[in-house]
This record gives sequence, structure tokens and C-alpha cells, in this order.
Amino acid sequence: MRDILGLAGAALGVTVPLGALGLLWLSPHPALQLPHFLAEEWKDHLFFFTYMLAGSTLSFGFFGFFLGRDSDIIEDQNRHLELLADRDELTGLGNHRFLHKVFKAEYVRHLATLKPISCLMMDLDHFKKVNDTYGHIFGDHVLKDFALLVGSSLRRGDVATRYGGEEFLCVLPGCGGKKAREVAERIRAKVRKKTFIQGESKAWVTVSVGAVTSYGAALDYPRLIALADQALYQAKRRGRNRVVQRVLVSTNKAGRRGKGTGFIPGVSAGA
Ligand code: GH3
Ligand code: MG
Ligand code: MG
Repeated sequence: MRDILGLAGAALGVTVPLGALGLLWLSPHPALQLPHFLAEEWKDHLFFFTYMLAGSTLSFGFFGFFLGRDSDIIEDQNRHLELLADRDELTGLGNHRFLHKVFKAEYVRHLATLKPISCLMMDLDHFKKVNDTYGHIFGDHVLKDFALLVGSSLRRGDVATRYGGEEFLCVLPGCGGKKAREVAERIRAKVRKKTFIQGESKAWVTVSVGAVTSYGAALDYPRLIALADQALYQAKRRGRNRVVQRVLVSTNKAGRRGKGTGFIPGVSAGA
């Protein structure tokens, strides 16, 4: 922006003395031909026009440049604030606000294309006990480490967010039921094996996952989140450290955008 405004300012600056010359030529004046008139005027008022040309070009140019630079700085700051507003401070993942922004956009794309979409709602098991036993600082460390583990288990284009507390939600655009289960199982197994260590404290935790995949079912994305939440609740009820999956397909014969939907349930649990 600063380059554009700087150049625009300089161009404006050049037009000021040239404009003065033009006005002089239009005013009642000995009827000289334009080139002769310009040459005469320039010669007679050499200092004035040189000063005007250099002075106004530089002044307008610098004015434009600094104006543009300020606007670049403000734009950068706004972008930075927007990023901060979308981040969860503790884990660095996207926050609830970011989740809704991304999920909404991805769901629109999902309905418009033939690609499925999946989401995983994850909740650390008995996390209150971790806090009560090792303290909140260690609990925070576990949440940060868990976020890293989740991030490293996803593909490019997948989005991991902290839904709140010790709950995390991942959006997997273009991901079908089989792949979603694989990702959920991979995360569950990695958490199960991982030792969370900070200083003298050492702990093992497990995670329960509610996985939902939609194949063009004409629902809205909050409904998909609610279904993932229900699946998570089932995983907790069935003993935790497991994945419960719902696959949502359109049952409308006319096509993918029908109102009818059907479930294909699935459960898995690991040691
Ligand atoms: P469940 O297996 O049913 O999910 O049991 P739980 O103990 O994990 O669930 P509960 O909802 O009873 O407790 C959640 C705990 O998560 C309580 C709260 O202190 C902890 N928690 C939430 N947010 C944070 C955080 O930012 N930092 C830490 N250290 N703990 C948190
Ligand atoms: Mg929990
Ligand atoms: Mg919870």
C-alpha cells in the first residue's frame, strides 16, 4: 500500500506545476503555440517551476508513502489481532470461535461437493483426577501435550480446535467414515501409550472419542457437533478409552441432498 500511495502522491505532485503551466496557457496570453509557450515560461521562471516540480513531487510522494505505511501497519495489526482472537491461549489450537468459522465454511463446501466430512469430539478421561492428583499446572501441561499429539496425527487441511476445558474437536474435510475411524483410533492409541511428564510428575491418561461422518446428509453443522457429542457420551458410558462412531448417510433416493438421514453405528475400544 505504501508503494502505491507513494507513487500516486508523486504523480499528483508532478501534476501541480504542470497544471499551473496549463492554466497559464489557457488564460489571456500572447497566442503562442503550446511548445513555444512552455519553453518561454520555463525559461522565464526556471527557478519557480523547478522548485515546484521537485518540491511538490517529493512532498506528495512522501505524504502518500507515510500514509500507506501507516495503513500497512494497521492492516498487519488487525491481522494479528484476528489470529489471536481465533487461538486458544493454552494449547495454541483454534478456539471455539475459530471452530465455528471453519466448520461452517467446510460444511457449506461439503454440501456443495460430493465429498464427505467427519468430525471427532474428544474428551480426556477422568481429567479432574489428574488435576486433583498432580495440580493444575501439570494438568495444563497434559492439555498442551495432548494438543501437540492431536495436531501431529492429522492430515493437512484437517483442523484441530479446543472446544473447551479438556474437550477437543477436529474437523476432517473430505474424510470418509473408514479414515475418520482410523484417525480417531490412532489418536486414542497414541494417548494410551504416552507418558505425560513434567518435572517429577508422571501420568497416563486416556481419551474417549465421538466420531461422526456425514455423506451429504442435509443437516446443519451444529447438528453434526451435537451427534459427535452424543457419540462421545456413549463412549464414556461404555467404559471410556474408546471410539464410538456414527456414519450419517442421506436415505433420500432422489439424491444426496434429501432430508432423510440414516445412521450406521460403530464402536471400538482398545486396551
Ligand atoms: P470424564 O471422564 O467423565 O470426562 O471425567 P473428567 O474428570 O475428565 O470430567 P469433568 O467434567 O468432571 O472434569 C473436567 C476437568 O477438566 C475439571 C477441570 O478442572 C479440568 N479442566 C478444564 N479446563 C482445564 C484447564 O484449562 N486446565 C486444567 N489444568 N484443567 C482443566
Ligand atoms: Mg473429561
Ligand atoms: Mg469434559
